[in-house]
Amino acid sequence: MSRRACNPRRVKIHRNYSVEDAAKLLHLHKNTIREWIRHGLPVIDDRRPVLILGSDLSDYLARRRSSKKRPCGPGQIYCVRCRCPQHPAGDMADYEPITTTSGNLVGLCPACNALMYRRVNCVKLDAARGNLEVSLAEAQQHIVESSNPSVNRDFTRE
Ligand SMILES: [Zn+2]
Repeated sequence: MSRRACNPRRVKIHRNYSVEDAAKLLHLHKNTIREWIRHGLPVIDDRRPVLILGSDLSDYLARRRSSKKRPCGPGQIYCVRCRCPQHPAGDMADYEPITTTSGNLVGLCPACNALMYRRVNCVKLDAARGNLEVSLAEAQQHIVESSNPSVNRDFTRE
């Protein structure tokens, strides 16, 4: 998905959009639009199927853009597809080490099923994980590997 796809200017403010229309217009999954509605995107009352005012959709996109850098709370991982922090499905994440001191928390976005990555420092892992159930199996394996001096030497020579 390109950055341009989420441009608020694509939205015609005098039109109403169904969830499907909005998803097509922005090249997003319908579940992403539904997730936005749950997170405060206004819809026209008493209409089924749900209709979104073009001006509301445009405002919401503009707000999302300006708040893009808002940090994840504890237990959240930023979903690049939904463009907001999400609690991973099942409140579960894997920890994949990148270096001996930092790695990625990896979880599944409950709204769009994309994999989400959050770079964390080992020291801050407890603060970042919140109430997530984090699988550290690979991390432990990595520590064993990196403490093997012959493996490290091979890497630095290359
Ligand atoms: Zn997502």
